[in-house]
Amino acid sequence: MSVDTDSLRDLKDMGILQERVSLAHYTTWRVGGPAQWLAEPNEAKQIPTLLHWATNEGLPLRVIGSGSNLLIADAGLPGLTLCLRRLQGLDLDAQSGRVRASSGEPIPTLARRAARKGLQGLEWAVGIPGTVGGAAVMNAGAQGGCTAERLISVDVVPLEGNDFRIRRLERESLDFAYRHSALQTQPLLVVAAEFQLEAGHDPVELQQRTSGNLNHRTSTQPYKQPSCGSVFRNPEPAKAGRLIEGLGLKGRRVGGAQVSEVHANFIVNTGGARAADIRNLIGLVQREVADAHGIQLQPEVKRLGFEMAA
Ligand SMILES: Cc1cc2nc3c(=O)[nH]c(=O)nc-3n(C[C@H](O)[C@H](O)[C@H](O)COP(=O)(O)OP(=O)(O)OC[C@H]3O[C@@H](n4cnc5c(N)ncnc54)[C@H](O)[C@@H]3O)c2cc1C
Repeated sequence: MSVDTDSLRDLKDMGILQERVSLAHYTTWRVGGPAQWLAEPNEAKQIPTLLHWATNEGLPLRVIGSGSNLLIADAGLPGLTLCLRRLQGLDLDAQSGRVRASSGEPIPTLARRAARKGLQGLEWAVGIPGTVGGAAVMNAGAQGGCTAERLISVDVVPLEGNDFRIRRLERESLDFAYRHSALQTQPLLVVAAEFQLEAGHDPVELQQRTSGNLNHRTSTQPYKQPSCGSVFRNPEPAKAGRLIEGLGLKGRRVGGAQVSEVHANFIVNTGGARAADIRNLIGLVQREVADAHGIQLQPEVKRLGFEMAA
């Protein structure tokens, strides 16, 4: 396996590959230590060079999007972290309703542009501050809709082995369920996704619905404070937020982390929180809910770097 050293040098010169970068700027919680190496490719063809190099160097690999569902340890992440949010591109066909989006495209941008073209099916997605790749991995959803309902396929690159060519996975192979997909457990990097939306709807009506959804969210959730959205999965039929609120845990703090006063399933960074504060507050809430209700709340949030942190 050979590393294209010229291409690698170009990636460093262009600032696409950098050493020791704080990941606090790459998560919506605004916490997390440094990445040993951080790459932010803006073209899919840069990815194999990065993967060949990291594999040759024996570096562990991690992939992130907007970091809006991530708790990254204060100690940071060894190896190479690939942040895909600069890998953008969107192609919407108003006639057929077919949409192709690069992994880093913000999902709210996709929702707004689809509504403007009269394409129905993603109006719920406007308030989710993630990327298309992150939405596919998480099967993000809101207001009764979810990513899996409209997704046709994803283009992925394997993170293991030495054949880093793009391959396509159809929806049926992705094992979608509530906030779950097979992409969460397989070593794959999503570079693009295809969606099938419903063409021919009234753009004005779709845009009204999209704005209405956003207004509803900003008035019921703590949008102005750093968070990662809902921390826990809903233990159906119960709602995690109701269980937490019912125990009087709104406002409970550990360091700079606080259970939101606005929505009990949100933990906010009130300023200066460490990842350890958030992790400890998650543990505290889990214990209180388990003691009171016998329910073990499962985090929806993905944790990175805690396996090696103190
Ligand atoms: C204010 C707020 C509101 C939110 N509301 C909602 C909501 O209503 N519904 C909802 O479902 N979520 C919500 N979220 C959570 C979050 O926005 C979603 O889970 C989103 O889909 C995550 O996308 P991301 O790009 O930020 O992914 P990240 O947080 O960066 O990553 C999430 C997971 O996906 C993996 N990943 C990301 N990109 C790729 C890729 N290209 N290839 C392979 N793996 C990848 C990461 O390794 C990680 O395991 C909210 C978050 C915030 C901050």
